[in-house]
Amino acid sequence: MKKTLLPLLLAALVLASGTAGAWGFFGHRTITQVAVYELPASMQAFYYRHMTELVRQSTAPDERRNDDPTEAPKHFIDVDHFSEDNPFGKMPRQYEKAVAKFTADTLQKYGTVPWVIIETKNKLTEAFRQRDTVGIVTYSAELSHYMGDAYVPLHTTINYDGQLTDQKGLHSLWESQLPERFINDYKLFGDEAKYIKDPLAAVWTVVQESFGFVGETFDRASKIEKTMKPDVRFTFSHRYGKTTRRYSDAFADEYEKAVGGMVSYRMKMAPTMISSLWLTAWQDAGKPNLNELMHLGRPTKVEKEKLTVELAAWKANTLSQNQLLLAQQKVKKIEVADEIKPAKDMGAAPKEVKEDEPAEPAPEAEPAPAPVVDKMKVKTKSAKGTEKTKQKASDW
Ligand SMILES: [Zn+2]
Repeated sequence: MKKTLLPLLLAALVLASGTAGAWGFFGHRTITQVAVYELPASMQAFYYRHMTELVRQSTAPDERRNDDPTEAPKHFIDVDHFSEDNPFGKMPRQYEKAVAKFTADTLQKYGTVPWVIIETKNKLTEAFRQRDTVGIVTYSAELSHYMGDAYVPLHTTINYDGQLTDQKGLHSLWESQLPERFINDYKLFGDEAKYIKDPLAAVWTVVQESFGFVGETFDRASKIEKTMKPDVRFTFSHRYGKTTRRYSDAFADEYEKAVGGMVSYRMKMAPTMISSLWLTAWQDAGKPNLNELMHLGRPTKVEKEKLTVELAAWKANTLSQNQLLLAQQKVKKIEVADEIKPAKDMGAAPKEVKEDEPAEPAPEAEPAPAPVVDKMKVKTKSAKGTEKTKQKASDW
């Protein structure tokens, strides 16, 4: 029975279309929340008060993709389109140079995420300068989204959903199904935010690392496919007269054993980079005193106690077990609402903290190199006449 039904079912399939937003909503929300924990105290009170809103808005770029045709390319860059043998050697890092070499139309088609991250970081810097608290929250959330996307290997390749290797559905398996299913096993405790001297270079390093994981992302799925039959491998759901195929939980369990360490590792690294970009924007804007932008005043006792509990859980990697991830909770009303206002309603010019007189307690005063993994080994391997960058499994 199964044997005769399956081809019919496959023929009737309308496969889930395209690439969903990286990380899915769960991943983006979790990454944004963790980024707040990695901030220095001088920024953390403000970000913590607005954490629910930041987390909520962190998925906005994906939510507007259907309405705004210019949105989609902002979330990825298919570097292997530009060169199969040496994409990072051939792609100029600067947008203008990349346009001169490949044309703006081509970049629009194959993705612009590195430059969108920088553009959003610059908007955030300006929002800090203007004391525009609406802008600070919005651009911090969007920066978190795009930067988070750049941590997903499948956002760096033309085979973004496994569609070219008969592995369609791999995208949401990697970025949604695995984190949602195995979050309890993932270690989210990462490094604290640091000032980034050259954000564009740091972002490109992240993209290169992500691309380094692409080979394993497919190869390890192929290995499981060899031993798991298609009718076990996939789950079919029927909605609105359409049949959608996705990888089954059985496959997800096997795939987690194969690449879970990689997913967990990218999910831990992303918040450090995001909080570092927030910190960099704030510092580049002259370190405006964020406590003065908290219209309801300094943190309350309840806020402080809650944050202490959450920081402890984050350090112990028990946020998920303790049900402290906002992504696990139903969307609820913001507990400590604070007004956020656009710059024009803010009155006087921003009060900047002088370099020799840092906001309390001292923030990261000294510019530090980008928080990228220095021991990451990227090797090139020849495969079928093409070379691809591979990341060593031992690195994650
Ligand atoms: Zn996205």
